[in-house]
Amino acid sequence: AKKMDDKDYLYYNQNMKNKMKKKKEIEDKLRNALNNDKFKLKYQPQVDLTDGQAKYFEALIRLKEDNISPGEFIPVAEESGLIIEIGRWVTKEAIEQLAIHEDNEIKISINFSVQQLNDKEYIDFLVEELNKNNVNPELLEIEITESVLIEKEAEAIEFLNQLSQLGVQLALDDFGTGYSSFSYLAYISFDKVKLDKFIIDRFLEGQNLKTIANLIKLFHSIDLPVVAEGVETKEQYINLAEMNCDYIQGYLFSKPLANNKIKKLLQENLIQ
Ligand code: C2E
Ligand code: CA
Ligand code: CA
Ligand code: CA
Repeated sequence: AKKMDDKDYLYYNQNMKNKMKKKKEIEDKLRNALNNDKFKLKYQPQVDLTDGQAKYFEALIRLKEDNISPGEFIPVAEESGLIIEIGRWVTKEAIEQLAIHEDNEIKISINFSVQQLNDKEYIDFLVEELNKNNVNPELLEIEITESVLIEKEAEAIEFLNQLSQLGVQLALDDFGTGYSSFSYLAYISFDKVKLDKFIIDRFLEGQNLKTIANLIKLFHSIDLPVVAEGVETKEQYINLAEMNCDYIQGYLFSKPLANNKIKKLLQENLIQ
């Protein structure tokens, strides 16, 4: 192999410096957003294939006045520890939104990062917010990925079981991207599983159709409703409907929406 010469080192150093500078900039943005109310949530409907209704929404965080995506800033929030405060903000905001829509009984799911397990008072905080806003815990759902369980298995299981006992719903997110093990299903009573866009795109054609169909059957056999994520085409929708997939979340029906768009959507049938 070629050895690194001075020029390479210089380049390498410069590259590292740029990356660290970028990270620092994002961290500053996140601190600023926490202090100045510059986060917002967008809500993407999960359309029920039996009736075309959207009563379930995934809350997805955004920065106001800035196009930086959560795919870019959430990892920085996780590394810096800011995710704890951000996670609380998301929780509070979602619960307040549930309170606003109490007559419509919508459900909102929020994403939860493994680093938030370090927030030892999170559950107390959650319960307090639910009580303060008079919101039924069953209307709130927490989405976690398998990585949470792999990184901190014992802690995660205890945490999730506590949530479950409170009545908070649990969704297994991004199924099909990691190990996609079924072993966790024995320890945690999930209420829903979300098939990642990755497997929707790779497997929803030709011979592979059977794989998804059987996966959905398997989840149904243990009473787990299935959400297909990242559905963009009519063909995918038709295939998933034939397989009795329960919910579809994707641009085909709706992008993530501002909160003031929820009400109107509740009156629509999205599959007509
Ligand atoms: P995720 O949890 O898998 O969320 C689904 C992502 O897929 C969202 O991206 C959503 O906008 C996008 N999406 C939905 N339908 C389609 C589609 O039809 N086509 C395509 N191409 N994309 C679609 P988003 O909002 O950019 O979020 C990216 C990731 O950032 C999320 O992935 C989640 O891991 C993380 N994230 C977002 N909000 C939060 C949050 O409040 N807390 C935490 N911890 N993570 C969050
Ligand atoms: Ca999610
Ligand atoms: Ca997902
Ligand atoms: Ca994903």
